[in-house]
Amino acid sequence: MQGRIHSIETFGSVDGPGIRFVIFLKGCAMRCLFCHNPDTWDPKTDNLKTPDELIDQALRYKDYWGEEGGITVSGGEPLLQIDFLIELFQKAKRHGINTCIDTAGQPFTRKEPFFSQFQELMKVTDLLLMDIKHIDSKIHRELTSVPNDNIIDMFRYLDEIHKPIWIRHVLLPGYTDDDKYLYETRAFIKTLHNVKKIDVLPFHKMGEFKWEKLGYPYRLKETKTPTKARIQNAVDILNGKNDENLI
Ligand code: SF4
Repeated sequence: MQGRIHSIETFGSVDGPGIRFVIFLKGCAMRCLFCHNPDTWDPKTDNLKTPDELIDQALRYKDYWGEEGGITVSGGEPLLQIDFLIELFQKAKRHGINTCIDTAGQPFTRKEPFFSQFQELMKVTDLLLMDIKHIDSKIHRELTSVPNDNIIDMFRYLDEIHKPIWIRHVLLPGYTDDDKYLYETRAFIKTLHNVKKIDVLPFHKMGEFKWEKLGYPYRLKETKTPTKARIQNAVDILNGKNDENLI
């Protein structure tokens, strides 16, 4: 079995705990307006690697991982290559490596065959980094091209099985930077018991040049990056500092 690889970061420090070997996979079915890696969308690539090749490569960096580090698989959307992920993480676990998936959850369903594969994958996954791209399903579709119902269900399933998650929320003026939606997102987060960390990721335009290079129209040209005050506001609301305002 081979994975379709976009790129590898050998010293990742933001994609999970500690220092991590981050494998970015090719392919994503979402079309987030703020995506800074549109070059990962197309699943086609000549860069194919087996789980053994990746584990061998990752192990060269093991000394730098310390107590907490390990391997993160990101994308693109890693769950689109779930068979490959299962094999990769099963091998990682045989080496005692901490495993983490950075996913937007779009492929999740409780239907077969995916659900059994996902359950298998969760046996060898230590942590998931999950995005709530928008709490309102209709706006989620405008923002990402897909509704969020199955993604919300994935959060619920991970809570049911007590799988630790970090939540990441892109703060995008005009879409997610509205107190109404921030409070709704907070109310949802409060129903979960497995959330270990909540990160607010301020919108930036660092990926804009990639959209232009690929010939895709970039619709957020006029959108401003959020102010420090709005970022702090989102951090406070999502982390429960203003829970007295929840309806
Ligand atoms: S899910 Fe991630 S990779 Fe896919 S379009 Fe959205 S931001 Fe980009």
